[in-house]
Amino acid sequence: MAVEWQRFVLGPFETNAYLVRCAGTREAAVLDVGFEPEVVLRAIRAGGLSVRHLLLTHAHYDHVAGMRAMQEAVGAPCWLHPDDGPLLAALAQQGAAFGLPDAAAPETMQWLEDGQTLSLGAESLSVLHTPGHSPGSVTFRSGDTLWVGDLLFQGSVGRTDLPGGSFEALARSVRSRLFPLGDSIQVLPGHGPETTLGAERRSNPFVGDRVGAP
Ligand SMILES: [Zn+2]
Ligand SMILES: [Zn+2]
Repeated sequence: MAVEWQRFVLGPFETNAYLVRCAGTREAAVLDVGFEPEVVLRAIRAGGLSVRHLLLTHAHYDHVAGMRAMQEAVGAPCWLHPDDGPLLAALAQQGAAFGLPDAAAPETMQWLEDGQTLSLGAESLSVLHTPGHSPGSVTFRSGDTLWVGDLLFQGSVGRTDLPGGSFEALARSVRSRLFPLGDSIQVLPGHGPETTLGAERRSNPFVGDRVGAP
């Protein structure tokens, strides 16, 4: 068995939110709802799902701003790596920088650790700390699927010019933590279409094998 997932493209930055569920038990996790939480809530209700975890790949406004409303509706704790705590505390300033309205952070936070496992019904999600796009960026893994946030995109990578970003850290995270997991692993990014580790290793112009080759 594996988890099932559904993608929602929400808000002005076309951020991917994901609803991840254990088919057997209907327990679910909700990942990165920046905007339009009501769209995800409708799918939760339609599927008769009970949400166990609210997950954040990182604390940028476009991934976080809808999570307070999600938490008020479903009551689950919200998980984030502590190295993105300062970004979470600056949510209002992040929004203002893009001309977006003030947003409240979720109330009940739980802190993620590298190597941690979260159970989801009969399934589980494991946590890899993969900094670079932000200091506390994480990747969630279940079976052969990765949710990478803004670390890695199809043919691109996340920006590293925002506070706490580091291209060297990002490249190290992708090359030393993700690529060794194997070419066939599916990658679900925070923006844009899905890809695989193999496709990015072969041809990604920022972190792939051909970077630096003549
Ligand atoms: Zn981001
Ligand atoms: Zn983003």
